[in-house]
Amino acid sequence: MFGIMAYPKYLILIRFVAAAFFVAVTFSSFADIAAAKDPAVTGVRLGVNDGKTRVVLDLTKAVPYSAFLLENPYRLVIDLPELGWSVDGDAADEKRGVVEGMRYGLFRAGNSRVVVDLKGPVRIVRHAALAKPDRLMFDLLPVPKSKYKKGQAVALNNWSPPTGKAIPMPRVKPEGDARRVVVIDPGHGGVDPGAVRGKTYEKRVVMAVAQEVRRQLEASKRYRVIMTRNRDIFVELRDRAKMAQDSEGDIFISLHADTHPKSKVRGASVYTLSEKASDREAARLAKKENKGDIIGGLDLTPYSKETGDILRELTVRRTMEESSVFANMLIAQFGKKKIRMQPYKTHRFAGFAVLKAPDVPSVLVEMGYLSNKTDKKILLSKNFRKKVGRAVLAALDGFFKHIDDLAAR
Ligand SMILES: [Zn+2]
Repeated sequence: MFGIMAYPKYLILIRFVAAAFFVAVTFSSFADIAAAKDPAVTGVRLGVNDGKTRVVLDLTKAVPYSAFLLENPYRLVIDLPELGWSVDGDAADEKRGVVEGMRYGLFRAGNSRVVVDLKGPVRIVRHAALAKPDRLMFDLLPVPKSKYKKGQAVALNNWSPPTGKAIPMPRVKPEGDARRVVVIDPGHGGVDPGAVRGKTYEKRVVMAVAQEVRRQLEASKRYRVIMTRNRDIFVELRDRAKMAQDSEGDIFISLHADTHPKSKVRGASVYTLSEKASDREAARLAKKENKGDIIGGLDLTPYSKETGDILRELTVRRTMEESSVFANMLIAQFGKKKIRMQPYKTHRFAGFAVLKAPDVPSVLVEMGYLSNKTDKKILLSKNFRKKVGRAVLAALDGFFKHIDDLAAR
């Protein structure tokens, strides 16, 4: 159906070279095992021959694709219709030829995405959809930087993924609704798993916490909750911040969990935005969290330009002061609820892209470390989620009382 006919020569070619070309390596997924879903990717194979690296995606059914290259860092992005992923192994560790790793996830409704990290600049020298069994094939040839063609894009029969936002922009506050709007932002999602330890993905840990926080806030009847994502889907960092603005959010809370090279490191910390980081650790973390958009296969160039403007706007001192006030109240509540905090500098700051809504006070909470055994166990527990929910609710109550008191003066 999807023009295998467009590539008859590859069909013949691949039969020739299949035996000699590459040792098949099966690997997988940072992703959701969705074996029941059809169509699905059932295998990923990498091979190297004649200087080229071949990437093959095995499929249950023919699907169209489009693919393009990105730089800074070099990546191959493969867009597909929304499909399942049932591949075994560990994609993160698989390195072969120019391929340094691979991630898969839902990018937007109707559009799954595979992002292949590359060692350096390449050219897509061949691509094809092959039948019996159905599979997609991409041959990548390393090229010197001077020969690299920016933004090379290929597609099967000009197929392109559905466009548009995955998540409808939240509605503005209904008339007469006195509830404060709290925007909860479960970090990462879809193609971007966040921190990973074994089978534990940050994107899932934070979603579970976000849902419990939402439940408690809504049960209080004092807050209306907007979630930046409700499912396992990729959302750009700037879109998260934009959602906070579009929904006229009164506050924005981004939830995360981290990993650290030192497995002893544990405890939560709360961050707010600033151009200068409070310490080296905070700078490292912001860099890591801001990587989400790179992982998702986005071209960050236009974003960097925009960042300057937003940062300038951020001289809106009030938002930053309010963010700080809330951060400190949240830290106090974490203490009261016996949630373990980092031993020092619990309120820290750095240049987090997700906290850049200029008029919505915003904090980022790193709830603990997946790289620490005790923290990981706690992060996955129901009891912890409940405690975070209670702490956030109490901190919000305190914060809005403070805001109201100021306004009444
Ligand atoms: Zn994170």
